[in-house]
Amino acid sequence: MNVKNVLKQTGFTFKKAFGQNFLTDESLLAGVVERSGVNENTVVLEIGVGAGTLTREIAKRAKRVVGYEIDKSLQPVLNETLKDFSNVEIVYEDVMKSTMQEIENKLNENYILVANLPYYITTPIVMRFIEEAKNVLAIVITIQKEVALRLVAKPKTSDYGSITVSVDAESDGEIIEYIGREKFYPVPNVDSAVVKLTLNRNKYQNLNPEKFKKLVKCAFTMRRKTLVNNLIKGYGLTREQAENTILSLGYDAGVRGEELSTQDFIKISNAL
Ligand code: SAM
Repeated sequence: MNVKNVLKQTGFTFKKAFGQNFLTDESLLAGVVERSGVNENTVVLEIGVGAGTLTREIAKRAKRVVGYEIDKSLQPVLNETLKDFSNVEIVYEDVMKSTMQEIENKLNENYILVANLPYYITTPIVMRFIEEAKNVLAIVITIQKEVALRLVAKPKTSDYGSITVSVDAESDGEIIEYIGREKFYPVPNVDSAVVKLTLNRNKYQNLNPEKFKKLVKCAFTMRRKTLVNNLIKGYGLTREQAENTILSLGYDAGVRGEELSTQDFIKISNAL
């Protein structure tokens, strides 16, 4: 199917505000779906269906696809590109305005999230599904390469930050593919990567979500500052209290958030 022709014939105009850069290379999309772990028993949630190119490759392999698309003007395009698939349901809504329960009710069983996400909702989507989703098995997202590197970064690197730790606490992450900007239509000004986050809710024992979240946020508030300095501000501790806590747990008084592993954050947050 020539999707570019369908877009032209239906008079579709691209909307930059919705992050509309579509992927049209069928073999590239097929590879992404295959590496996502989608098979004939899988239910898939797709966010941002676009012209339905990724949706078609998912629908060929999955049991069922529920796709969200904010832009109703894509309906004539999708009526054409998805006409051969009876296992696809498109919801023309802003996914950010739906509650997690509404989304998961539509899926009605465990599912994999597969999406080529618009840049402006990447972080909120990742954090929502990591923190709130009950039935998601894996999150496979095509996103800006720099953000992808942050999601899978190791401690003591410049990409390592609060999102890395938050995501690592609940999942196992890997980059499964790099996609150059020239593969998108229209061509954006950034390269992309496909990240697979396999949910692993029991990865760490003793994780208290409230305490953990508070410490991770606090530790990276001012990256260049030591953890002690961030604790003084974030927790209202005296320098002595903050230093004693850190030293008693076996850390150097000058340790910074970016040097700590997820396990370290759990240990310190539970002691505070
Ligand atoms: N999946 C298609 C592909 O791979 O070619 C399209 C990807 S394009 C990067 C992102 C899509 O997400 C666009 O079609 C855009 O209209 C849609 N979108 C943007 N914000 C959205 C939102 N809040 N809810 C649902 N869809 C959204």
